[in-house]
Amino acid sequence: MVEKTSNSLSQNVNELEAFYAISKIVAHNIESEDGLQKIINLARPIFIFDNVVLYRSGESKGLEPSFARAVGRGRSTEADLAWGEATANEAITSKQIIVRQEINGNYSKERMRLRYYLGLPLIIRDYQMGALVFIRYGGPPFTEEQTHLAEFIATNVAQLLEHEQLVIKLSTLESERRLERLQDDFVATISHELRTPLGFIKGYATTLLREDTTWSKDTRREFLMIIDEETDRLRELIDNLLDSSRLQTGTLRMKFQPIRLDTMLRDISLRARSLYEDMPIELKLKNSNVQIQADPTRLAQVFDNLLINASKYAPGSKVTMTLTKENKMAHIAVSDQGPGIPEIHLENIFTRFFRVPNETSSIRGTGLGLFICRRIVHTHGGEIRADSKVGKGTTFHIYLPCEEIEINKHTH
Ligand code: ADP
Repeated sequence: MVEKTSNSLSQNVNELEAFYAISKIVAHNIESEDGLQKIINLARPIFIFDNVVLYRSGESKGLEPSFARAVGRGRSTEADLAWGEATANEAITSKQIIVRQEINGNYSKERMRLRYYLGLPLIIRDYQMGALVFIRYGGPPFTEEQTHLAEFIATNVAQLLEHEQLVIKLSTLESERRLERLQDDFVATISHELRTPLGFIKGYATTLLREDTTWSKDTRREFLMIIDEETDRLRELIDNLLDSSRLQTGTLRMKFQPIRLDTMLRDISLRARSLYEDMPIELKLKNSNVQIQADPTRLAQVFDNLLINASKYAPGSKVTMTLTKENKMAHIAVSDQGPGIPEIHLENIFTRFFRVPNETSSIRGTGLGLFICRRIVHTHGGEIRADSKVGKGTTFHIYLPCEEIEINKHTH
């Protein structure tokens, strides 16, 4: 008698420990699959079952088994096991604990034919999450005490599922908010950038149209030049926006052809010298006859953009463009002696809409240029990165794969 009491006492202590450990799992696990496995491992020593199946009530598809383990008998015949779907359905519809017994043929010969099912609805605050079904082969039947134990396990499993659902919901909400904030920033930047040139165009056009004033020829010309420049800016901005969204969705088509990089850089620097009169541009071609496969318009856009940036962010500084052939790569460096970019921002400048805070707030821009440059260079199989020292200047390095120029063996 005494022995029996101490036995059941130690059984109670074991149960308590398992209860405690199960509750802890619910508090600490986010992954329900992992948490469920741990709960099942802890439940097994205090509560005997052969199979356990978790059914979840899907929003559209109805009841679906989402977790199943064969732990006892029948482990080896897992494929033919009964998974208690009918019991799960009944538990869900009635919101009650269901105890069922099923006999398939002659169970005295094969214990697997006698099955006991214990189905528990998983409900949290009236919300039906599914059902948990325990299955035992060949008995003994589930006792009332064991049913209580199973109820405790089911409550914890329901909490685990709820916990997981909340975490998923939270992260969805967070990413929606992040996206919303990004879209807000985008709209704010773009509307500001579109409004500025539009404001100039409208203002000067209205002024020119005033009938109460006559403008001198020079003034009229000056106003028209502003309108002309701002219209270009507006077009450039819209082109950039379109390019960046096409690059983002991979729908920007490029037409590759063999080009001479040294010739291209010579043309670009010539054009830039006439565009930016107070920006001395030095071109150093360390190798000539550097041939690459490229879309000439798009690649020129990259160098143009770097030169525009140098004129905007390093005004008055000398700019050096160097072309070197290194192994099978062409290396183009575009350096200025401007204010430079703090190291923490160096990688970010290639991100869409990123602009170095504060320093460039008075200079017009959208933060799209370098994003577009990087995408174009990547499409050419190359790489672009920036080096910079605050107060000393910035160098953009571009690496592009070269074509091996065929030496004609039959020349003589
Ligand atoms: P945008 O010029 O329209 O702002 P970019 O993508 O071309 O966009 O450049 C991103 C940011 O990188 C700029 O806002 C500027 O802060 C910084 N930056 C680019 N080029 C230079 C440069 N040569 N010197 C200093 N800062 C630069």
